[in-house]
Amino acid sequence: MTRFLATLLASAALSTSLPLQARAELDVVSLKSAIERSVESDYPKLDALYKDIHAHPEIAFQEEKTAAKLAAEMRALGFEVTEHVGKTGLVAIYKNSDGPTIMVRTELDALPMEEKTGLAYASHDKTIWQGRETFVAHSCGHDIHMASWVGTAKTLVGLKDQWHGTLMFIAQPAEEIVSGAKAMLADGLFTRFPKPDFGFALHANGAFAYGTVLYRVGIDSSNIDGLYIKFRGRGGHGAVPQATIDPVMMAAHFVVDVQSVVSREKDPTEFGVVSIGAIHGGTVANIIPDDVVLAGTIRSFKPEVRAKMLAGIERTAKAVAAMSNAPEPEIKITEGAKAVINDPGVVATAEKVLKAAFGDKFRPSPPVTPSEDYSEFINAGVPSMFFRIGVYEPERVAAAREGEGPQLPGNHSPLFAPVPKPTIETGVEAMTLAVLSVFDQHARENAREK
Ligand SMILES: [Zn+2]
Ligand SMILES: [Zn+2]
Repeated sequence: MTRFLATLLASAALSTSLPLQARAELDVVSLKSAIERSVESDYPKLDALYKDIHAHPEIAFQEEKTAAKLAAEMRALGFEVTEHVGKTGLVAIYKNSDGPTIMVRTELDALPMEEKTGLAYASHDKTIWQGRETFVAHSCGHDIHMASWVGTAKTLVGLKDQWHGTLMFIAQPAEEIVSGAKAMLADGLFTRFPKPDFGFALHANGAFAYGTVLYRVGIDSSNIDGLYIKFRGRGGHGAVPQATIDPVMMAAHFVVDVQSVVSREKDPTEFGVVSIGAIHGGTVANIIPDDVVLAGTIRSFKPEVRAKMLAGIERTAKAVAAMSNAPEPEIKITEGAKAVINDPGVVATAEKVLKAAFGDKFRPSPPVTPSEDYSEFINAGVPSMFFRIGVYEPERVAAAREGEGPQLPGNHSPLFAPVPKPTIETGVEAMTLAVLSVFDQHARENAREK
């Protein structure tokens, strides 16, 4: 046993303060205060880890040092750690007799952008990204997730007489480019290691207050598809349009007409968005170019809505080209992450415990429109719950909502600056209780069967 773990056990005295209650209802109130005490005594270490990771962020698939830091933490706790799963990912396993395997996932990656928070622990690091030098910043809060993940592991190890089974803590690379989950699965995540019975992940969110935990049953985040279209025309003089086929005109038609797929073909009560974020074509005012390239993003929640939008987008692009008597356009749709769909059973189990622990600070929320590749693990057969934790002072959030204070910077803003302590503490408490609720449910179901 490491000195650190011994300190954790001794200081929190978790194993002696609570009787084993495998078959009775979890005593959530005393469990929560035991977890709070554990996190409180452990917080200085988590704070140092958080600020170190925050100050030295690494971008998708470059997370070597970040992964090594987490690997060291988990080994010190007694986890068996395998590094370089899916390039820079890691898997940490902790067996505690027979029972289900529960996966807890964090992401490792930061974003290619400059941090402008002015915090003492702000990142000034740079890296090479797609051939260009760029700043790197943890502006999505994945550093909060990592600190909460390590804190949850420590707390669960300290509470190990409260549960039986296997913890499978995974740190996933490259979430921001929705590639890391796929990379880990392709590298044998569920074949070289046990396939988890249940899974959990959390995300820090700049839209609400720390201490608050939001969740959903069912669809939680969107399907994402990338769109690339090249309209092919015939270039020529801007004053002699009759001798040309004008791809700028086609692009202009398409950008407007494609919105009728959203407004006329899709059920208006269902979520679906098409946004064209880039148009590239032409050089100067009086030359009609040969071609114009468009790039966009397509978001949806339901597979049937997605299929309808993809078909409509393709038909619109071809129709626009046909209208100009142009050759067929080149259309590429790149499948990104699928919607995260929370499992009703897992949510129902965790809900009871989290509701008892957090009261009305734990509540359902609408789905969010950004995407998340945690869906890869769900679609590989791991019933899961993905939830969100707030990051800002409740007063500032309330003032912003009522228009009495400034808007607070959201995820991916260069000013995104979670308040570390209460945010990480809530992350650890909510995640620990969620994992314990599933272990407990399983133990009681087993007891009933026997
Ligand atoms: Zn992000
Ligand atoms: Zn994120």
